[in-house]
Amino acid sequence: MNVHESEKISGLLNSHGYSKTYDIENADIIVFNTCCIRDTAEKKILSKIGDLKALKRKNKDLIIAIVGCMTQQKGKAENILKSYNYVDIILGSNNHLDLVKYINELPKKKKIIKIESLENNNLIENFPICRDSKYKAYVNITYGCNNYCTYCIVPYVRGSEISRDPEKIISEITNLLKNGVKEITLLGQNVNSYKFENVDFNKLLSMIDNIDVVENFWIRFMTSHPKDFNSEIIETIANSKHLCKSIHLPLQSGSNKILNLMNRKYTREQYLNIIKNIKDNIPNCGITTDIMVGFPYETEKDFLDTIDILEKAKFINAFTFVYSKRNGTPASEMPQISAEIKKDRIMRLIKKQNEIAKNLSNKYINNTYTAFVESYDNKNKHFITRLEDGKQVNINSSDKSILGTFVKVKIINAGISALLGEII
Ligand code: SF4
Repeated sequence: MNVHESEKISGLLNSHGYSKTYDIENADIIVFNTCCIRDTAEKKILSKIGDLKALKRKNKDLIIAIVGCMTQQKGKAENILKSYNYVDIILGSNNHLDLVKYINELPKKKKIIKIESLENNNLIENFPICRDSKYKAYVNITYGCNNYCTYCIVPYVRGSEISRDPEKIISEITNLLKNGVKEITLLGQNVNSYKFENVDFNKLLSMIDNIDVVENFWIRFMTSHPKDFNSEIIETIANSKHLCKSIHLPLQSGSNKILNLMNRKYTREQYLNIIKNIKDNIPNCGITTDIMVGFPYETEKDFLDTIDILEKAKFINAFTFVYSKRNGTPASEMPQISAEIKKDRIMRLIKKQNEIAKNLSNKYINNTYTAFVESYDNKNKHFITRLEDGKQVNINSSDKSILGTFVKVKIINAGISALLGEII
């Protein structure tokens, strides 16, 4: 989500004559697009802002802007200005599209803070976007979230959920496809609850699947919420031409007690039923998840319930996290468990998931697949490609023309998170 927002900020600055530079020493404007979902991300950003003090001292005309949801936490913008008085502009995640206007106001005003929530009537369409890739793209279908999971700050900083007009979504996707994009990821905090008049998520998926301006393209979406993930969505994916057989379904915890405390609104049994339904109806679907350990009140038994789901669901990949306390959320008021216990559980969780992922990865060896060549990794000197189920396959090839195309690959080796393949 933040990557795509950065593309919008880039596009906006680009359309006003600025160009992107990776040479921070010579930049005229430095924009930090922040995220406050986890405490570690926030600490990292603050440390990077601290690093800019010397640069600002050298170049008094340098403009430093902090945008994104970190700034929308209560009192945060004022605190940033107090600690880092060389910051010029602070904008909330719903105000960053006004960045250029505020840059132009800077000579008159000394410091600018603008934090506003997004309302239905000011959803902005058709803004310029400077996309990082020519071949894959992100398209927002919803903004904000109504779910109020007790550990999560998103609904407080990003506001209530708003769904985009499906016509606008279809038009954006059609244009991207006409311009050579081959893989599109639909974005939203909970894409499954998309609803615009009589169009729900399932209908939107069918509309997108029926776009016929080009023959070959793949559609992915994230993030799903198990409470809204229904059989119709599974059926639509199973019968689609372009929807990838790949589903990211955050579990968070395998314990009903913890799921209830998290306000996730599903049980472990319901979650496992969805997994069974997916596996029964979408053969070889790649299922990935998010899992958190160390939530308040989590006992060893609760943790073992999470491990139990890991063993039953067999995720091809899991994003694993230690619970991070976010001020202003209900969970931050609950009794916290110790750092040692959290550390022990995350290590055991990762070890178990790595075993599962490695076993699943080995099953790809000697089989052939269609893969989309999404980028070239300059550091490791290989192409990064992705299978329909989401699995990453690295490929050594000197043929640069394969970038942005679908290729046939044979898997020759397997690691935990990526496979090694060769073009056939
Ligand atoms: S669904 Fe829950 S975890 Fe996801 S953004 Fe909304 S409140 Fe946060």
